[in-house]
Amino acid sequence: MERRVPAIAFCCLIGVSLVFAQPVPNSPRPGLPVLTEAAQVRRLTRSEAIRGYPVHLKVVVTYFEGNPIPEMFVQDSTGSGWVPWSPGLPKAVPGQLIDLWGVTAQTDFAPDIDKPRWTVIGQAPLPPAKRVTFEEMASTTVDARWVEVEGLVRSAEVPPNDCCLRLNLEVPGGRVVVRVLGQPTVPAGLVDSYVRIHGACGAIFTAKNQLVGVMLYVPSIQEIKTIESGPPDPFAAAARPIEALQRFAFTGRPTHRVKVSGVVTARFQGRDLYIADQTGSTYVETNQTAPLVPGDRVEVVGFAGFVDYRPILKDAIYRRTGAASVPPPNPVQPDKALDDDSHDAALVTAEGQLTARVVLPSEEVLIMKQGGASFSAIGQWKSAEVKQALLEDSRIRVTGILVMEKDGVGVPQSFKIRLRSPADVVVLQNPSWWTRGRALSILGLVALIAFLTSAWVLVLRRRVRSQTAELRRKNEELAAALKSTQEATQLKSEFLANMSHEVRTPMNAIIGMTALAMDATSRDEQQEYLADVTASAESLLTLLNDILDLSKIEAGRMELNPASVALVDIVKDSTHLLRNAATQKGIDLRYTVTPDLFRTVAADPVRLRQVLLNLVGNAVKFTERGAVMVEAAVDSEDAATICAKFAVRDTGPGIPEDKQKIIFEAFRQADGSTTRKYGGTGLGLAISAHLVELMGGRIWVESRPGKGSTFWFTARLGKLDSGLHPASEKLPANAGA
Ligand code: ADP
Repeated sequence: MERRVPAIAFCCLIGVSLVFAQPVPNSPRPGLPVLTEAAQVRRLTRSEAIRGYPVHLKVVVTYFEGNPIPEMFVQDSTGSGWVPWSPGLPKAVPGQLIDLWGVTAQTDFAPDIDKPRWTVIGQAPLPPAKRVTFEEMASTTVDARWVEVEGLVRSAEVPPNDCCLRLNLEVPGGRVVVRVLGQPTVPAGLVDSYVRIHGACGAIFTAKNQLVGVMLYVPSIQEIKTIESGPPDPFAAAARPIEALQRFAFTGRPTHRVKVSGVVTARFQGRDLYIADQTGSTYVETNQTAPLVPGDRVEVVGFAGFVDYRPILKDAIYRRTGAASVPPPNPVQPDKALDDDSHDAALVTAEGQLTARVVLPSEEVLIMKQGGASFSAIGQWKSAEVKQALLEDSRIRVTGILVMEKDGVGVPQSFKIRLRSPADVVVLQNPSWWTRGRALSILGLVALIAFLTSAWVLVLRRRVRSQTAELRRKNEELAAALKSTQEATQLKSEFLANMSHEVRTPMNAIIGMTALAMDATSRDEQQEYLADVTASAESLLTLLNDILDLSKIEAGRMELNPASVALVDIVKDSTHLLRNAATQKGIDLRYTVTPDLFRTVAADPVRLRQVLLNLVGNAVKFTERGAVMVEAAVDSEDAATICAKFAVRDTGPGIPEDKQKIIFEAFRQADGSTTRKYGGTGLGLAISAHLVELMGGRIWVESRPGKGSTFWFTARLGKLDSGLHPASEKLPANAGA
């Protein structure tokens, strides 16, 4: 038989109902012996109890309570037990002697007598109460027994929604909760009385059937005997200064309540009350709920003691006696607060920098820093009441109750400030724009940009390096190609020069020998053959000379050999040499030279004549009828030079405009058909262009197909001191060839 109050249900013991575990089904097993003593049931293990031993006891009812909380304790001479009463069973009365049948079970804390049935067989005095210590009660050895305890009533109340008195009894070694059946009021003077109580010892246990408290079930107030009365009016005593609490005062017995008078500095939800008088501050633990606000003047009666190494008034009651102003908070230096625990439980104010803020649904935590010290300020209010404008890194001032947090031997480790309302937080200075967070963000951004820039520079550098390497490689390839081209050109030029030179000598011999042969023979046929040989050899010699000149030009070895010469002579010679050819074709070949070119100048007569012969030769070659006219005049002159301008006009086929430039390049001709028709190599104009360039002039052509061509060129000639050429003076200014 067992009292079954799970601790989790104890809180609502006063409530309407309790939920019990379902009993383990069982029934008497055939062959099991009938247990006839309460002690036999009690000695069963759990596995034995659930086997369902039949039970038949003759016991006295020590406690019975039906609705809403079913409790039934019984006892015989050997022991005691708890009977799971349920509605439908008859109600028992303490002092009844009953014949009790049932089966053993263990539904929760201890072996029970399940499926109880009983008949009342008479009345009996309650068994002698065994005087027990708290340790015996807390060890379960006297569980369900009718016992006697002595102690000081620390508090008494009839909780809301309950009909029974409940006491907190301080006994040596611990606390016992006492439930007094049928007592709906708190008797005057009971609190703070030293009493002796008889009742059934019950257990407060957890859902896992672990004992966590002791409860005494007292069937009536008659079972409580006052040994030493408390004061009938607890507030009648004289108030003591708060600083005198917990000072040395040996009495040998639990101390009675003391009274203090002060002003409320803080009132938090639940049991926490802080008051202060002229001498100090203290923490008050109370179950009373009458409203109080800071500034209320109160009288508090409670048991002086300590908790967490701080003085406290426990199990206190209070009454408001008026209004006063809240005492001014003590300023504290956070870095020195731990040195002096006189601020513990006092109203204080402290300043610091807000380093972090945590807003929870019903709590706000501010982490603050000042000097080298960090501390927290905690407000228990709804998040809706939170000041939104509180920024991190602000400098703020907080006001509230300082609570020291001490280690296991009472040495202060840290402190916190319990804030009473959002008004306890005052912003002294908002953070500068440069908050730590912003500074870190910007630093991060700068680092990121620097990183990206470096990465970009690295990529660019690599690209430039690879492109430079590529360019260098290509340059080297080009240089190598150029070198090999130059070498090849050099070789070619040298070969051509050598070859031309080597061939020219025998060619001259052939021409000379042919002339001798022609002189030595008179036969017409032979004369004709030899004339052909001479013409072919001369043509070959011209070609060789051209190739030799070109190779000299390409090798950069072509040089002028100036001599004193009259330009009119050169023009005259050139036309004279081609006169026969022109005459044979029926072409009129003439020249005009202005008189100022009759004087001698410094010029290379060979190369000048070569250019003129080439141009006049081409004119005669390509012109079928009409005339070829050679003109020479001074274009401009300065102190040292004369720029002579020459024109060779013909009435030939003309040259298309798109060919007028390319014919001055080596081996280029205006039209392949003219080549076949007129022969030639395409070297004459190219060589002429180079020679004219060497003479400081330029060469060009004006032509229209079908209308003839005019080849122009200029040459810069050096002036000589001597005046006119003597021979030239005898010639007409305008002479026909
Ligand atoms: P070649 O006369 O041996 O072919 P040139 O360099 O002297 O080489 O002349 C190049 C080309 O220019 C000729 O083949 C010809 O097509 C054209 N040319 C030169 N002079 C004349 C001209 N007076 N009339 C028409 N075409 C000409």
